[in-house]
Amino acid sequence: MPRMIALNGAQRRKDPNRLNHDARTNATPALRIIPREQHVISRKNISKAALRVLYRLNEAGYQAYLVGGAVRDLLLGGHPKDFDVATNATPDEVKKLFRNSRLIGRRFRLAHVVYGPEIIEVATFRGTGEEEGEGDRHIVDGRIVRDNVWGTIEEDALRRDFRVNALYYDISDFSVRDYVGGMQDVENRVLHLIGDPATRYREDPVRMLRAVRLAAKLDFRIDTAAAAPFAELGPLLADAAPARLFDESLKLFLAGHGLKSFRMLEQTGLLKFMFPATARALKRGDEALRALIEQGLANTDARVAEGKSVTPAFLFAVLLWGEVRDLAHTWMTKDVEPVTAWERAATHVIAEQCQRVAIPRRFTLTMEEIWGLQPRFEQVQRKRVFRLMAHPRFRAAFDFLLLRAAESPAIRQLGEWWDHAQQLPPETLAAALAGSASGGGASEASAMPKPRKRRKRKAASKSGGKSDQA
Ligand code: ATP
Ligand code: MG
Repeated sequence: MPRMIALNGAQRRKDPNRLNHDARTNATPALRIIPREQHVISRKNISKAALRVLYRLNEAGYQAYLVGGAVRDLLLGGHPKDFDVATNATPDEVKKLFRNSRLIGRRFRLAHVVYGPEIIEVATFRGTGEEEGEGDRHIVDGRIVRDNVWGTIEEDALRRDFRVNALYYDISDFSVRDYVGGMQDVENRVLHLIGDPATRYREDPVRMLRAVRLAAKLDFRIDTAAAAPFAELGPLLADAAPARLFDESLKLFLAGHGLKSFRMLEQTGLLKFMFPATARALKRGDEALRALIEQGLANTDARVAEGKSVTPAFLFAVLLWGEVRDLAHTWMTKDVEPVTAWERAATHVIAEQCQRVAIPRRFTLTMEEIWGLQPRFEQVQRKRVFRLMAHPRFRAAFDFLLLRAAESPAIRQLGEWWDHAQQLPPETLAAALAGSASGGGASEASAMPKPRKRRKRKAASKSGGKSDQA
């Protein structure tokens, strides 16, 4: 695939409005203006708040464009959840124009214009800042950034990551402005980086993850040149801020395309830089673990599609389970008490993971509970059964047990046993368990009366029918 420069070369020479020089690639981008009647973006699909911001800026004499993911998604017929605006007004000028706005960000200031629950992010065109003396360079979160260096719209386009993310919808005439060939990429469903891929990944390694995420979300392919540096530059993700990687992992796995993201991360070799323990366990050829992870992600995607809630704790518990389980078993063979072995394994795996992806404490606590409850499903004596069912994390832990069915027939049976147990009226369950009170252990599964009619998740409705991933 020819690079962006080659693609636009012929056009550029003919273009009378030659634009600013792109220092990064030593080439001049050509502007293509797609008039209203030649694209599908309609104001009907743009939020009222975003339209108000665009119009107000424009009426005050500034340039105002919708930009980034929203333009891309609108062209693809999607429904963007957030709308970003780019303008030549400075943040202070934006602030003066909108009483309902506030300036955010320390180094690079943006304005947030607030309409009830909706926030429109308004950013001033940014320069590439490559000429010497333009702004101070800083490394922030592993990225090279420069303090407020305002630029032209052309420069603003060139510092964006993918061509499809650098399209501008012009509120003054409803045209789309394309400086980098993004429109063509939308049509061809491909992600090209703007400029030299290796340089762009060195500036910000998280762009590699963004490539995978957007390819999964949009069902695009990643251009060969954009994917080529992954193996060599993937290790740079170690420098990315763990908090940023946490945010990115939510967008990868909890936004409705988790299974696809996971498969692409594995194929591209990037998984090991984000989830080393997961990649290690899978590399050991643990096919049951792969089935568990894929099923967990598929269930999550289905919940998102149905508009149900999903939480990160369950998902991270799924991704890291293989390593926790294997470590716990290793310690148990060394005569460590089971409870201690599980606790230690969880602590160890979480500590390692959080060096890469900063999972907040409230989620790691839930993960520890979900894992810690797993061995307790094997203890089916009467008192323990009722105690476990009353545990606040029972529901999530039980769903986790069901995912583990792929591990062995015994685990699958255990899952079925607990499924039945929850559907029995408590007295019937108590009586069944009392009948074999002396024994304990999985043999009681056979002593259990099977429920006559499958009622809908009795235990679930008792606990408020809440999300199984809460
Ligand atoms: P999503 O649909 O997930 O919101 P998005 O492309 O809108 O995708 P955002 O993180 O919201 O992603 O970023 C908005 C825009 O900012 C992008 O479209 C892109 O133009 C620019 N951008 C975001 N992250 C980067 C980056 N790391 N490097 C360069 N440009 C970026
Ligand atoms: Mg966005």
